[in-house]
Amino acid sequence: MIDRIAAGEVVERPASVVKELVENSLDAGASRVTIDIEEGGRSLIEVADDGQGMSPADLELAVARHATSKIKSVYDLERIATLGFRGEALSSIASVSRLMITTRRKEDTAGVSLVVEGGRRAESSQLGAPVGTLVAVRDLFFNTPARRKFMRAVSTELTHIQAWVTRLALARAEVQFVLRHGRRRLIDAPAAADLSQRATAVLGREVFEHLHALQYAKDGLNVTGLVSAPDLSRANPKAIYFFINGRFVRDRMLQHALMAGYQTVLPHGRFPVAVLKIDMDPAVVDVNVHPQKTEVRFGDTRVVHQAVSASVASVLSCAPWLKSARSYVIRGSEGSEKGVGNPRAGQVREALSRYASHGLHDKAGQGQWSTPRIPQPVRLPFGIEAPAQGVSLSSYNLVGTLWDTYILLSAPDGMFVVDQHAAAERITFERLRKQAESARVTSQRLLVPVQLELDAGSVARCEEQQERIMALGFEVEKFGETTLNITAVPALLADAPCAVLLADVLEELAQSYGSSSWESARLEVLGRMACHSSLRAGKTMSETEIRALLEQLERIDFAGTCPHGRPVMARFSKTEVERWFQRT
Ligand code: ADP
Ligand code: MG
Repeated sequence: MIDRIAAGEVVERPASVVKELVENSLDAGASRVTIDIEEGGRSLIEVADDGQGMSPADLELAVARHATSKIKSVYDLERIATLGFRGEALSSIASVSRLMITTRRKEDTAGVSLVVEGGRRAESSQLGAPVGTLVAVRDLFFNTPARRKFMRAVSTELTHIQAWVTRLALARAEVQFVLRHGRRRLIDAPAAADLSQRATAVLGREVFEHLHALQYAKDGLNVTGLVSAPDLSRANPKAIYFFINGRFVRDRMLQHALMAGYQTVLPHGRFPVAVLKIDMDPAVVDVNVHPQKTEVRFGDTRVVHQAVSASVASVLSCAPWLKSARSYVIRGSEGSEKGVGNPRAGQVREALSRYASHGLHDKAGQGQWSTPRIPQPVRLPFGIEAPAQGVSLSSYNLVGTLWDTYILLSAPDGMFVVDQHAAAERITFERLRKQAESARVTSQRLLVPVQLELDAGSVARCEEQQERIMALGFEVEKFGETTLNITAVPALLADAPCAVLLADVLEELAQSYGSSSWESARLEVLGRMACHSSLRAGKTMSETEIRALLEQLERIDFAGTCPHGRPVMARFSKTEVERWFQRT
């Protein structure tokens, strides 16, 4: 029983088994690691490597370690607590599965195979085998029903597995990685010459041209890696990878430092794609806090924060693509294809001009991480909800537009400022929501199918979520392992570049996996889709267009739904305006 409880610490779910096995392969000097999964890891996790292998005696030891520790339990439990989980993984896995290891060293003429079931050593035999090790974990948690029940849907477990293999593959670009689920290849990463080649293989081809290399060395601290130009951003921080001395870690301070490096070139709520490797004296960093949580403790947090933010800021500030990023934004705000990857074009443009004028380069990294230099955009107290109640916007006087972005209206007791893009987004959102709630989002067939390149895992997930995707107004077909054909799109968004649109939707869907209900997840996705509504800030609108927009806006029941996105309008009361001029 004790061993099964202990196993829970290391073996939380199939992905943790994959992680431990692949780490062992890497420790054994493998240049090729192949991972085969069946049923999300429930029935089979198989990791094959071409590493150094084990002698028959080592093999017995490798799985027996825990048995030894059970005999001297008190002493060993203490040791585990202090030394981490050395030698724990294989025996833990063996205690909650049917484990088979086949291995051969270069110097041995025959291989050896060992079977352990539920911690009980079953058999071993000699056999012919290639040099390296093959570990097969079958029926995970077969003897711990509580844990077995805890396993989520196949797609959820696969998402976690793929996440871990991606991290390990990014950590070791020179090693070949293949991850298969049944006959599907989810990751296919040949040995890479450098990190950017590897990143392209595991993060998707579309990231390639947006990633820029970074290098920094100071005070015994080395930072290398890739960060994305502001034109490639994501709605969540999942594409941010940190490695400390070769180990993947998750850390709020590091993420904060990265975001501080971007300062304001990314709009609020967007995250870059980044792979950052930090190498430092192991004596001043502890990455073994917990085997699963991938936490890290630094001796001196500030030095690390400064190194990360400074290196990111400097690659951003001296890169030639800052110019192209700016022109991208301007083109984007005119509604061209390229800008749509980033829905908040206006915000970005603003941020970029601030960014350019601040001379980011020399200021980089001087701040404390608890006090960002440029405050986050403030959420205005006059939100989306309040002013719409009972106002009839279209009856107010149209004063004009400001910077082709805001509509100014005067009312008897105040002034309204409407953000034209936010308004269009909101209207589209409401229409999409209505359609989705009554049946499905109305779609429009494309004359010519559009292809979307993804990583194989996303294509697989897309297939699994076909129904939801159709309910959102898309029709897609698989077209090869890493390609989708889009044949129909939501009619309301027919003008938007559909590949980008669908990619956003898939990202949003992946995020909602297993957590929230479809009802609430759907709202999130629809909100994301609405960002692609064609009216952008910076587009000159005719008076007729403005009137039409306001009329549509009036019909929205703002109170009825949870608002998505940023404020649509602001209201200044007459009293407030009078206060400005000290008339009161
Ligand atoms: P640890 O990795 O902390 O030593 P594990 O339980 O993960 O503990 O592995 C136990 C031992 O089994 C390792 O120290 C190593 O000697 C051996 N081993 C495990 N997997 C492999 C492999 N793929 N190739 C060679 N040896 C391995
Ligand atoms: Mg190990």
